[in-house]
Amino acid sequence: MTMQNQTRITRKFAGTGVMIAVVLATLTAFIVMIGATTVNAAPQIKTQAPGFYRMMLGDYEITVLSDGIAPRQVDQIMSKPREIREILAHDHEALPVDLSINTFAINTGAKLILVDTGAGELFGSHSGGRLIANLRAAGYKPEQIDAVLLTHIHADHSGGLSIGGQRVFTNALVYVDKRDPNFWLSAASESAAPANMKQMFQQSHSTVDPYVKAAKLRPFDGETELFPGIRTISAYGHTPGHTTYMVESKGQRLLLWGGTIHLAEAQFSDPTITIEYDVERDAAITSRMKLLVDADKKGYLVGGAHISFPGLGHVRADTKGFSWITLPYSDKS
Ligand SMILES: [Zn+2]
Repeated sequence: MTMQNQTRITRKFAGTGVMIAVVLATLTAFIVMIGATTVNAAPQIKTQAPGFYRMMLGDYEITVLSDGIAPRQVDQIMSKPREIREILAHDHEALPVDLSINTFAINTGAKLILVDTGAGELFGSHSGGRLIANLRAAGYKPEQIDAVLLTHIHADHSGGLSIGGQRVFTNALVYVDKRDPNFWLSAASESAAPANMKQMFQQSHSTVDPYVKAAKLRPFDGETELFPGIRTISAYGHTPGHTTYMVESKGQRLLLWGGTIHLAEAQFSDPTITIEYDVERDAAITSRMKLLVDADKKGYLVGGAHISFPGLGHVRADTKGFSWITLPYSDKS
């Protein structure tokens, strides 16, 4: 190596060294800047807004109250799993799906009526159980509820009736089609049920029994008017006494569904898809079909317990099955 060559190499290394020093200095300045930004940044809150949605139906004030969500691997608990996975992939939706748990308060001006009660403590602290916080956020107290109407007895609909064995709605009478307590509170049907259903019977007892003991349960038989403008429409199958509630004021109508649609993405287009919680699957399909045809033909508003919060919309018959048309958001009072 000549002297000249050595000098050139030394210069080259020195040049690279300067460059590295400049890059490092810039990087350090950048990190300091980011650090300063982080120190002054607002903390992320990470809680959802209170889950209630208000609307007027004629003279009746309707408040949809969220009980939260139940994330479900729906392809493992519903029929036609391949069809369900295809539909969700086509919709760019991932599994598990967060199924909403919606309940509905109706203030008629004379009575405060709650349709369904969410899951209470039955799904643990990370799923469901938000109803009472949202009821209070919406301006009501549990003791103001005069009547609870159950679409059916199932953890996510009747589970919120009692917490720790105590009635949550201390001044309420509880209405449910007699076929449900006759099934879910019966020792005979419990002993005849398969092992994987036993827990559902225990949950029914822990949440409904306190109202039976206090003589607050009011079983009804089929289709009847319970309060002015509120009548029951039977939809048996999902459970033996599964019921929907038609609310009507000044010619405006809202039909409240319980376990009619669990997965809107798939069951509107294919109402023959069932869920493993259906007690009688064929009857559940027949009831769902009848409700969808009626909702399309008559055009009334529908509120769905498991349709994404607030679960309000219209049903329209489509080339393949039905479509769900979400009610546009409104802040009119
Ligand atoms: Zn159900």
